[in-house]
Amino acid sequence: MSATSGEKIGSTLAHLVKVMKTPTIGRVWEDLAEIAREQGWSHEEYLAAVLERQVADREANGTALRIQTAKFPAIKTLEDFNTDYQPGLRRDVLAHLQNTSFVPKAENVILLGPPGVGKTHLGIGLGIKACQAGYPALFDTAAGWVNRLSDAHQRHGGLDQELKRLRRYRLLIIDELGYLPFDADAANLFFQLVAARYEQESLLITSNLSFGRWGEIFSDDTVAAAMIDRLVHHAEVLTLDGESYRTRSRRELIETTTSRTP
Ligand code: ADP
Ligand code: MG
Repeated sequence: MSATSGEKIGSTLAHLVKVMKTPTIGRVWEDLAEIAREQGWSHEEYLAAVLERQVADREANGTALRIQTAKFPAIKTLEDFNTDYQPGLRRDVLAHLQNTSFVPKAENVILLGPPGVGKTHLGIGLGIKACQAGYPALFDTAAGWVNRLSDAHQRHGGLDQELKRLRRYRLLIIDELGYLPFDADAANLFFQLVAARYEQESLLITSNLSFGRWGEIFSDDTVAAAMIDRLVHHAEVLTLDGESYRTRSRRELIETTTSRTP
C-alpha cells in the first residue's frame, strides 16, 4: 500500500469508526492488520479479530457500568465464597443459580439464615453474575427499598411510576428483610413491590427469619402468607446455617495464634 492510500484509508476508517461508535476498532485495526500480514490471516480472520476486540471491550464496559449502577455495598464474588463453611448448602442449586438463567425466567432467590453466614455475600455475588450476563441489577436493604417506595408514594401516581421504572432492573436485591419490622404502610408498599415483580422480573431476598416468622416482620400473618406465596411460586430457597463467619474466623485466628504459643 502506498503512503497516500495508507493515509486515505486511515482517515476513512477514523471517520467510519466514529460514525459506527466503535472506538476499539479505531484503536486496533492498524496493529491487527500488521499481525494479519505477518501471519498470513485471511480477510475473514482479520475481520473477525477486529470485531471480537470491539465486542469484548463493549461487554467489559457494559459490565463495569452495570456493577457501578447496581450500588452494591461491597464487591463480593461467588469465587471468594468458601462453601466448606456451609456444608448444608445445596451446591447443585448454587451452581445452577450462577448461570443466572433464573433472571430471564423471572424467578426469585431467597437466602435465609442467621447473621454472618454469608447471605449478603451470596446476594452480591449473584448480583455481579447477573451484571456480567448483561442484566441490570439494583441492590438495597429492605428498609432502603421501603423508603424509596414511600418517597415515590408521596407523589401523586408516583408508586406505579416507580414500580414501572424499576422494571428496567432485571434483578432487585432486597437485603436484610426482617431486621426491622414494618408498620402497616411499609408492609403494604413492600407487598406492592413483590406483586408487581411477580412473574415479570426477579427478586433476590435475604432474611434472618425463616418463613414461619415473617408474620413478625409485617405484623400481619395474612400479608406475610400472601407475600411468601407469590415469592416462592417460582423460586430457589437456600438456607444457610452455622456459626457467623465473622466470629468463626476471629475464633480460628485466636486458636491458631494461641496454639502456636508455647
Ligand atoms: P450475612 O449477610 O449472612 O449476615 P455476610 O454476607 O455479611 O453475612 O458475611 C459476613 C462476612 O463474612 C462478610 O465479610 C462475608 O464476605 C464473609 N463470609 C461469610 N461467609 C463466607 C464464606 N462462606 N466464605 C467467605 N466469606 C464469607
Ligand atoms: Mg447481611
